[in-house]
Amino acid sequence: NRKPLQPATADGANKLHNLDRLHHLHPFTDLQQYANKGGRVVSRAEHIYIFDATDKKIMDGMSGLWCCNLGYSQPTIVAAITEQLQTLPYYNSFFNCSNEAAITLAAELADVMPSGFNRFFFTNSGSEANDTNIRLVHRYFDILEKPQKRIFISRKNAYHGSTIAASSLGGMSAMHKQITGLTYVEHIEQPYWFENGGSNTPEEYGLIAARALEAKIDELGEENVAAFIAEPIQGAGGVIVPPTSYWPEIQRICDERDILLISDEVICGFGRTGNWFGCETYGMKPDLITFAKGVSNGFQPLGGVAVSDKVANVITTSDGEFAHGFTYSGHPAACAAGIATIALLRDSGILEHTRQHLGPYFRQRCQELSEHAIVGEVRTQGMLAAFELVKNKDSKERLGPDGSGAQFARDCAIESGLMVRAVGDSIISAPPFVCSNDEINILIDRLVAALDAASDEFGVRG
Ligand code: PMP
Repeated sequence: NRKPLQPATADGANKLHNLDRLHHLHPFTDLQQYANKGGRVVSRAEHIYIFDATDKKIMDGMSGLWCCNLGYSQPTIVAAITEQLQTLPYYNSFFNCSNEAAITLAAELADVMPSGFNRFFFTNSGSEANDTNIRLVHRYFDILEKPQKRIFISRKNAYHGSTIAASSLGGMSAMHKQITGLTYVEHIEQPYWFENGGSNTPEEYGLIAARALEAKIDELGEENVAAFIAEPIQGAGGVIVPPTSYWPEIQRICDERDILLISDEVICGFGRTGNWFGCETYGMKPDLITFAKGVSNGFQPLGGVAVSDKVANVITTSDGEFAHGFTYSGHPAACAAGIATIALLRDSGILEHTRQHLGPYFRQRCQELSEHAIVGEVRTQGMLAAFELVKNKDSKERLGPDGSGAQFARDCAIESGLMVRAVGDSIISAPPFVCSNDEINILIDRLVAALDAASDEFGVRG
C-alpha cells in the first residue's frame, strides 16, 4: 500500500534518485558508476517532450528507445489499452486458444505489411522475436529435410537484441565479450562507407560490402547456411544508411541461393524510414520480418515475426507442434495498443505526412549540418539521422578518442534540452513523427549549439 513517490519537491526528486541508485539495476549501464552517481529519473511525458523528476523539459530526439514514434500523447492508444484491460485483461494463445485483440491485430498487420506476409507470431520484444526467427528457420529447414542448414549470417556491429540467442545474432564486440553465444552465427562487414569505404565511391563500396555475403556463403557451403539477418538501416549500430547499391546486390545473392532473408525491422518498421517497412524503402523481399517497438508506439511491450507465405506454407502444413512461445504471446492489452497504433499511422495520415513532408524537411535541415566544422558526414533516411564527428574532414580523423567527441556533444545537447544518442563517433537522432517543422528547427538549433560547444572543447576552428 505504498503511496507512489511523486517528487513535487527537490527533496522528493533526490529521494527517488537515491532509491534508484540503491535498488534498481539498469540495462546497458555501468552498474558501478550508476550505484555511485545515479542517473535521470523521468517522471512524465507529453507530445514529444519528457520531463525529469526535477521537472526539466527535454525534447525527445530519440522517440524513447526508437519506439514512441507518435510521441507520448496518444489518447486513442491509451483508451484501447484501458478498454481491453476492462474486458479481457489476459488470456494466453497456447493450447488452441485465441483472443479478439490478437486476431484483429494479426489481420491488421496483414493489411499493412508487404504483400505475401499473412501470418504473425507475437512476442513481447524484439529480442524474443529474433529468438523466434531462429526457431522458425530451424523448423522450416527441418520440415524440408535439410536439417544441416543451420548457420545464420549477420553483420558486425549489428544489434538484434539481448537474449543469448539474439545477442549471438548481433555483432557488437562489447556484448560478445560478455556472452558465450550460439556457435552457428557468422558475421560479415556492415555497409559503413564512411568508416570502411576507403577510396571507393559509396556505390562501389556497397557492392563490395554485399559481396562479403556471397563470399561467406561460398566459404561455409550453401548447404549449411540457413539465413541472413540484417536491419534495412543498422540503427543502434549508428544509423548505418547503406549505399543504394547494397540491398539489390544482397537480394541477388539470396535469390540465387537457398538462403532465407530476415529483415529486422524493430527500428525501421512502422514508418521510420518513410514507408511502412524499411524493406519497402530498399526494395528488399525478405522471408521473415522482425517487428517490435513502433508497432505499439512503445505503450505496451509487443513484438513479433511476420512470416511470409513461403515459410508459412511449410510450417503450417506439417504435422507436429511448433514448440515455442511465451506466456504473453498475443497479450490482449499489447495487441489492443498495436491495433490503435496502426489505425493512427494508417487512417489519420501521419505516415503519409511523415513520408511526404516531415521526413524530407528533417533531411534538409540535417543535411545543412554537413557544413559544420566537425561534421564529416550526415546520413539520413526518413526520420533517422546520423552525424559523424571529426577533427579533420579530409583525413576523417575522429573528434576525440574512443567516442569522447560524440559523448561530449550528446551531453551538451541533453543539457540544453535535446535527447540524442552517441554511438561511437556519431550523434544519432530518431525524432517522433508528430514533430512540427518548428520543432525540427528547435532540434537542429540545439544540435548546432552542442556541435559548436564540442568543436570549442576539442579545439576545432570553424
Ligand atoms: N532488433 C533491433 C534492430 C533493435 O534495435 C532492437 C532494440 N533496440 C532489438 C532487436 C531488440 O528489441 P527489444 O529491446 O525489444 O528486445
